[in-house]
Amino acid sequence: MRIALIKGDGIGVDVSEAALAVLEAALGKVGQDAPSCDEIRAGAGYFSETGLDIEADGETRVDAADAVFLGAIGLPSIRHTDGTEISPHLRLRDTFGLYAGVRPVKAYPNAPQRLADPRAAGIDLIILRESTEGLFYSAATHKRSLVVTDDEVQDVLRITRNTTTKLHTFAFNLARKRRERGKSGKLTCVDKANVFTSLAFFRQLFDEVRHDFPDVPVGYNYVDAQALDLVRKPWEFDVLVTENMFGDILSDLAGGLVGGMGMAACAEIGDSTGLFQPAHGSAPDIMGQDKANPLAAILSGALMLDYLSVKLDRPELGDAGELINAAVEAGFRDNALRPMEFGGDMGTRAITRQVLSHIEKRP
Ligand code: ATP
Ligand code: MG
Repeated sequence: MRIALIKGDGIGVDVSEAALAVLEAALGKVGQDAPSCDEIRAGAGYFSETGLDIEADGETRVDAADAVFLGAIGLPSIRHTDGTEISPHLRLRDTFGLYAGVRPVKAYPNAPQRLADPRAAGIDLIILRESTEGLFYSAATHKRSLVVTDDEVQDVLRITRNTTTKLHTFAFNLARKRRERGKSGKLTCVDKANVFTSLAFFRQLFDEVRHDFPDVPVGYNYVDAQALDLVRKPWEFDVLVTENMFGDILSDLAGGLVGGMGMAACAEIGDSTGLFQPAHGSAPDIMGQDKANPLAAILSGALMLDYLSVKLDRPELGDAGELINAAVEAGFRDNALRPMEFGGDMGTRAITRQVLSHIEKRP
């Protein structure tokens, strides 16, 4: 198993090292070797030293690996001359067509919980966000922002059959897998098919793919109603699939229900590779202070193992991923994981040690 490792900037370095240590321990526990890591230098720090945002052969080496693990990239103090931040990871998303953005949202016991309803303890859903087209990102990618006059600017909401069919197929497979693991596995198509022709097309393609998955229960929701429902009854949802911008907004909303950025894992998956990273940034305000919560990175590592188990047809890797998830779950249940991020007493190293000891203790 070959991993391209981009630690990046700020707390990205600390949380990716934590995630790697946990990954190795979990793999060892199920009798597997540690991955071979090709560390690629990239990010704002690297840019300020070299004028490049990623090593010159970085993309080739990403291509040669089975998956990419990334800490965090960007520092507000270091920018391109046009004022934009250093973001080679966004280019990787385009280059490798990482269309499926996977954002798990899960309530852990003893972690902050915004909703008073006791059913909120059961929040456990995944938002699947198309990540290469849709609204505004099609403009960013294809330079299709149309300045019509001095008084008007337009962007494009672009939905293609090819990408959307792949997205929906990914969503149905994910829902089916969750069903096999005892979740409801209900898949909800989130759109605005009543207003946008592009999103009526999105829903039409959902229905086309649906025929191949008669075992997966489905639902439909307009995005505005979905925002309301995520606050009113998030425990009723299992997998949501939606276009880029809607997914961006809904995943922040849902993340806000169950804790902080330090819990938000993320996977971005394409045809040939996947990129795994915590959803948070480099957090320069807390870098170098052992304060960052590494759990988002650690849980992203579990997502990577799950992905690799299918890609490489090695089920043991999935077992190692499950071991990590179970260790985090048990750590919270025992109140042994108390991140400073939530007012607790544990920094990056203490949390990592605790997760490692839970993995060691497991039968
Ligand atoms: P980006 O544009 O790269 O997403 P951002 O401006 O959204 O970055 P983050 O770096 O994600 O900012 O940080 C936002 C806030 O959340 C900061 O106050 C930061 O300290 C906090 N934060 C982010 N990640 C963590 C973490 N893993 N543990 C604790 N606090 C975090
Ligand atoms: Mg951010």
